[in-house]
Amino acid sequence: MHAIIRAMARSRKGSASKPSRRAPRNVSSARFDKLAAGLAEVGRSFYQRGWVLGTSGNFSALVSDKPLRLAITSTGLDKGALDQKQFLEIDDQARVVRGDGKPSAETALHLAIARTRRAGAVLHTHSLWSTVLSDALAAAGAVTIEGFEMLKGLDGVHTHQHREILPIFENSQDIAELAAQVQARLENGAAMHGFLLRRHGLYTWGRDLAEAKRHVEILEFLLEALGRSKSGV
Ligand SMILES: [Zn+2]
Repeated sequence: MHAIIRAMARSRKGSASKPSRRAPRNVSSARFDKLAAGLAEVGRSFYQRGWVLGTSGNFSALVSDKPLRLAITSTGLDKGALDQKQFLEIDDQARVVRGDGKPSAETALHLAIARTRRAGAVLHTHSLWSTVLSDALAAAGAVTIEGFEMLKGLDGVHTHQHREILPIFENSQDIAELAAQVQARLENGAAMHGFLLRRHGLYTWGRDLAEAKRHVEILEFLLEALGRSKSGV
């Protein structure tokens, strides 16, 4: 008991003398700023690769788990000129708790992935090959990729013989309904690293931003390799 009281006294003294280092909001604020800067850099890099042209795509990262808070892109921004000040912090109901603007139209999908996969970051691209293959293979319900060395860039994959199955969801402007479908599939525990929206794009995630970025690079490479080998170009 005495130890607890001493600890509380130390804590009170500490918070009085160093408020900026102890206040949870400031810790969260520094984390938000760092994540927003990282996401902005990822956006500029993906734009250069042609994966998020014409204000398409959106990105988020986990600011805190409990309560759930995401740093996420505002809607309608040029991803080639993203600035960290353009990011918003939202709660688990997609309400803006930091920043000015409207969160991405596809926010519910980011929240569904963050909840079910405990993802540290979620990245969404509108690349050419994810658009083409999600349509060409829609009847199969998934894009299946196997036999490529680059599969080893996916978390937990150690051999080119791995079979990666990316489910394809029919695209919809009813994002709440789409997010419910995605969440139900993710809750089934399928060992996927991403999924596709038909004629729309790729969603992937990672335990942190670096892993999510790597997953985009790996999956975009694999989709292009598969698409080119199927079409002979
Ligand atoms: Zn999209």
